[in-house]
Amino acid sequence: MALQDRIRDLSLADQAVRGLSGRLEANQRRQKSQQRKLDQLLNKAAEVSEQLKQQQAIVTTMEKQIGEIDLKVAKHREQMNTVTSNKEYSALLVEMNTLKVEKTKIEEKMLVEMERLEELKNQAAELDEQSGNHKKLVQKAEADVIEAREEVGVKLDEAIAEREKATIDIPPDVLTMFERLGESYEGEAVAPIEEQDRRRREYNCGGCFMSLPVEIINGLIMRRDEVITCPSCRRILYIKQDLMQAIGAKGG
Ligand SMILES: [Zn+2]
Repeated sequence: MALQDRIRDLSLADQAVRGLSGRLEANQRRQKSQQRKLDQLLNKAAEVSEQLKQQQAIVTTMEKQIGEIDLKVAKHREQMNTVTSNKEYSALLVEMNTLKVEKTKIEEKMLVEMERLEELKNQAAELDEQSGNHKKLVQKAEADVIEAREEVGVKLDEAIAEREKATIDIPPDVLTMFERLGESYEGEAVAPIEEQDRRRREYNCGGCFMSLPVEIINGLIMRRDEVITCPSCRRILYIKQDLMQAIGAKGG
């Protein structure tokens, strides 16, 4: 097999490995991002739950204050039945009125605090529901990772072995070049020739789409054990069997 064909086979094997590991990585990325979002929701829920506790304490304190005032008022009312002088009576009356004013003030404030308490309760319930739903998404993402690992795992091992085999007949310097290009072009180290116009002998690189001089096409057909690269993007060029035959048949 000519070197150009061996490089193409290596490229196919390499792409199979990249495709399979890419699927696994995509699942892992999705799982991580879902987990991150769940963590944020749970943090927010904990924060709101703490605020809710404090708010509940504020309201409880106010309820207690009102209860104490009510007790005092009841006591005064009893005293009013037993007092003998007008002076004592009016003193109790003044005190009771003061207590009523105080109670109204607390009640007004308490209304605002209770509204805030309601808001926090709603917020907590909403966050609870959201994190509950999101937990399901995380579980699904985790299951997807496991499934992908099971499905891809064996195939990936096979593909890696296949790629390893494909490297055996590639000279080390070509292999280094192939790997470097693969890093630069996300696994696209090899580019096929594309035909624009056969009569006018116009061809371009399938990687960067720049047009190629006809000597390169001739080289790919005549010197198939040579590594020929695109002058623009440096990808290793490859000519497909059917195109080569078509050109050969026409040009002779
Ligand atoms: Zn190119």
